Amino acid sequence: MQNTHNNLSNNSAFNWIIIYQAENQVEANIVKGLLLHEGIECQLQGEMLHGALGEIPFDQTSVSVQVYAIKERHAREILLNYQQVKQVAPDWVCPNCNEHNGPSFDFCWSCETLNNDKS
Ligand SMILES: [Zn+2]
Repeated sequence: MQNTHNNLSNNSAFNWIIIYQAENQVEANIVKGLLLHEGIECQLQGEMLHGALGEIPFDQTSVSVQVYAIKERHAREILLNYQQVKQVAPDWVCPNCNEHNGPSFDFCWSCETLNNDKS
């Protein structure tokens, strides 16, 4: 059995590692904003495609978000939270008027019915 996890040198703590593979540049910048908000330095890889956005379909320009290896654990906690929020908060449909509402709305934007499905 090799135990490589306890074998990090000081140098490897400041290697850039990919913490998240974003589907596109918009999502990459959301993740970057989350990390920066928590005081974690990060960089995006793949932004060089920016100049070609007119020719390449927007959803095919995947961007990797990188952080220092020493910040990996903290960054993963933040991203885990982010991904859970994304998964457990789908749009909801108003039972009264059938309008679609974003997950952050507690009341229907159309008829102001309270969203009862939140648990
Ligand atoms: Zn409604």
